Amino acid sequence: SERTLVLVKPDGVERGLVGEVIARIERKGLKLAALELRTADRATAEQHYAEHDGKSFYNDLVDFITGGPLVALVVEGTRAIPAFRQLAGGTDPVEKATPGTIRGDFGLEVQYNLVHGSDSAESAEREIKIWFPNL
Ligand code: ATP
Repeated sequence: SERTLVLVKPDGVERGLVGEVIARIERKGLKLAALELRTADRATAEQHYAEHDGKSFYNDLVDFITGGPLVALVVEGTRAIPAFRQLAGGTDPVEKATPGTIRGDFGLEVQYNLVHGSDSAESAEREIKIWFPNL
């Protein structure tokens, strides 16, 4: 069993898709290990997206992710990291995510792609520490 860090980004919360995302996680057979609604401060967002520092979309991304409440979750289960990436679909909701995935079913724009999921065991460990330092 492994753990992954999932975010329902501010666009997902604004659109009322928190329940939809959690339902899909649970139906897949994954378990919730932690869950919090919060508005991220800049330092947290910059840490989370450190690998994108310097890219053209970095400032917009940090503005967006701090722009309203999000839901942070730790999700646990067999192959939880790739399993949630499969549920989420590809980064671009139209060009990459297929219908049946969260992004493919509900997204239109790359920036507003509704969810985040850790992409590796190293990322998951790093990101869980950022969002849930007491876990
Ligand atoms: P996430 O890390 O949020 O799960 P990802 O791993 O699918 O997404 P990354 O390439 O790590 O995608 O990009 C991180 C996030 O930055 C994307 O989810 C998206 O919100 C935003 N992003 C990526 N590329 C672009 C872009 N070209 N324009 C605007 N925003 C972008």
